[in-house]
Amino acid sequence: MIRKFICPKAQTQIFHIGLDDTDSSEGMCTTFLTFNLVSRFLKDKNKTRLIDYPNLIRLNPNIPWKTRGNASLVLRIESELTMAEVFRMCKNMVDRFATSKHANAGLAIFEGEKIPDTVREFSRRALFKVQSLSEAISIMDKIGIRYYGLRKRQGLVGALAGIGNELKHDHTFELIAYRKSCKVKRSIDKSKIIKMDYKTRPSTYNSYDEENNRVLITPHGPDPVLLGIRGETPRAVKQAFDLILPLKNLLGYMIFRSNQGTGEHLQNVIDLSKLKAYTSGKLKGTVSTRPHIERGGHVFFELKNEQGRIPCAAYEPTGNFRMKVMSLSEGDLVEVGGGIRKKTSRHQSVLNLEYLIPRKLVSLWIEKNPICPKCFGKMNSEGRNQGFKCKKCAFTSKFISKSRTEVGRELTQNRLYLPDMKAHRHLTKPLQRYVHGKLQVEIGRTEQERLVRDWILTPKN
Ligand SMILES: [Zn+2]
Repeated sequence: MIRKFICPKAQTQIFHIGLDDTDSSEGMCTTFLTFNLVSRFLKDKNKTRLIDYPNLIRLNPNIPWKTRGNASLVLRIESELTMAEVFRMCKNMVDRFATSKHANAGLAIFEGEKIPDTVREFSRRALFKVQSLSEAISIMDKIGIRYYGLRKRQGLVGALAGIGNELKHDHTFELIAYRKSCKVKRSIDKSKIIKMDYKTRPSTYNSYDEENNRVLITPHGPDPVLLGIRGETPRAVKQAFDLILPLKNLLGYMIFRSNQGTGEHLQNVIDLSKLKAYTSGKLKGTVSTRPHIERGGHVFFELKNEQGRIPCAAYEPTGNFRMKVMSLSEGDLVEVGGGIRKKTSRHQSVLNLEYLIPRKLVSLWIEKNPICPKCFGKMNSEGRNQGFKCKKCAFTSKFISKSRTEVGRELTQNRLYLPDMKAHRHLTKPLQRYVHGKLQVEIGRTEQERLVRDWILTPKN
């Protein structure tokens, strides 16, 4: 470990600081709190240094009372400060930012180098299940994690879950830039973003949805985020950012390491006989009813396997993905991933599709009446097992049968189909990362990923 920023005589401790649910619809954002907290820690560079990029951990996206993003933020620092001092600094920041009456904020701080297994296990489950606040609190009490919550304190679940996900496997980066004033409308030149996207892909992803001509790096809410650029390495997102500079109303930026774009929430296998609402995951099964479109443009079909049956839905916002789903046929063996929507009095549980892989497609045939062997005219059936008769020359035969022609399938076996980019969840693994992801992660593990202090953050100038 590099210790050059720290006086060798000083005692240092490692702290893992988890934060969640300080944002609300009124326009705060936990990443912005983290940005400010990092600025605060780095003010006194000799006492504290980051040992990782700030982590942006996305948790189960299918929990309805959380925002779609369901993000937890984690700072991992080495510091001369005591737990009491670190805790006070973080708590003050939470109090200052999480002022909305909907912010059920949570702050958790673990001191130590090795994350306990119980925390890692809690974190693993938080990617695809609903985790309870009481379990989070009992784990924290047992281990001696210090915590602080506001209002319903639901954010403690995410704060603890974030700490436990050290992003040891596949991960990506996001550069998030913040604006000075939230009253000034975000105005970023679209052509610049299209150019940046073209130049930097595949080392960046989901900046621009070509199919729907939509820019994806700028949010639309009242929050302080100006834009976010996602990519494979810190260098990649920084270079992409440089391409769209200068920007009006820019306060500063920070680079986060994240599980976004990794599909981490869909590793779990869903058991249809033990269906739980809001679970995310994947399963294999056979298409048991023909797909159909319902009002609003949503596409539905039923899937079955040894454990049970479930309706699967590709909702309207998934765009062209629905056409792929429509081309499924009864009997097709498929793998699907997504989240379970809760059963209500009006409808049963539904799997909201996030991806589709046809594993074995059935052959489709069209049957046609035979051609007359004498005059090449069309023949008609004389009735069941009665043979065919020519309409033109009246030739009849009991030994002629209908001709069968195989119809080509629109779908390709073992190919991955995803919703349109604009409908992707933060955790959705985009198509390009299946091709390039592996290589990029290996690059990431070496030179490019080293913590580059200057890149993490540019505080206001
Ligand atoms: Zn004939």
